[in-house]
Amino acid sequence: KNLKTYFTLKSDRIGAEPEVVKAVNDLSFEVKKGEILGVVGESGCGKSTLGKTIMRLNHKTEGTISYKGSEIFDLDKNELKDFRKEMQMVFQDPFSSLNPRKKVGDLLAQPLKIHGMTDKKEIDEKIDAIMREVGINPAYKGRFPHQFSGGQRQRIGIARALMLNPEFIICDEAVSALDVSIQAQVINLLLDLHDKYGFTYIFIAHDLAVVEFISTRILVMYLGKIVETADKDVLVKTHMHPYTKALFNAFPATDPHGRENKEQVVMGDVPSPIKPPSGCHFHPRCPHAKDICREKYPELKEVEPGHKVACWLYE
Ligand code: SF4
Ligand code: MG
Repeated sequence: KNLKTYFTLKSDRIGAEPEVVKAVNDLSFEVKKGEILGVVGESGCGKSTLGKTIMRLNHKTEGTISYKGSEIFDLDKNELKDFRKEMQMVFQDPFSSLNPRKKVGDLLAQPLKIHGMTDKKEIDEKIDAIMREVGINPAYKGRFPHQFSGGQRQRIGIARALMLNPEFIICDEAVSALDVSIQAQVINLLLDLHDKYGFTYIFIAHDLAVVEFISTRILVMYLGKIVETADKDVLVKTHMHPYTKALFNAFPATDPHGRENKEQVVMGDVPSPIKPPSGCHFHPRCPHAKDICREKYPELKEVEPGHKVACWLYE
């Protein structure tokens, strides 16, 4: 609720004001048990910062994050340990998130040992079961990460997240580094695990096609803000924010007739998050910008149940 994560950048210039990046700028939303909330937006829009802040891997500047009724930033050391068991993160780059000097079996044993499991047989059985679950032959647990392909490494990354029987998994660009055909396999694995165990996911990606495929609900971010959110099916049919429309038009539709509201594709890069444009941050790229857009930020407002948009066109 009203979550803000700001970073202050040191300036080289003497006497210069420090610059502040409002990476997550006043976000309020909820994630329901069992849902797959896709968070989409271009790079630099604050998606990863949001994921890390929820995991308490970042500071927060303001606001609250409550998980099953507890405020995450109020947890003490022991409570945080329990929380970390339930909530896991899968990162983008399977190459750098796996320690290259450790065998896969040791990498998977690590979280169990940290959480007090000592019985070697029990640990081995758990590793074998989870490796099978993610589609990697347990006979390979003596191998090092570099001996696996990118897709297999991401399966190992997922296996590691599963070791402690989590309930909630944040996937941050979990398939972005993979070839398209491998992406599909890993996404299908995540969906199978979701169906089998009822996991809750926050699925963060810059690629709307991927987010559209996996999510039950979507949250569109632009420069630290939520600009639109709705159930996936609703958003696919009636995206209202000009930025969401541009995202949808940036990739080819499988069913072109299912897509309404054709919008001109956004040109140019995302402005700097250090000095976001005044008013609606999207106005320099928006074909519908009017005076008020340059002056005042539009509130995120509900336009129909569960569908919220931050745009002056819908005031
Ligand atoms: Fe475009 Fe204005 Fe809507 Fe922003 S508020 S998206 S500039 S129409
Ligand atoms: Mg990121």
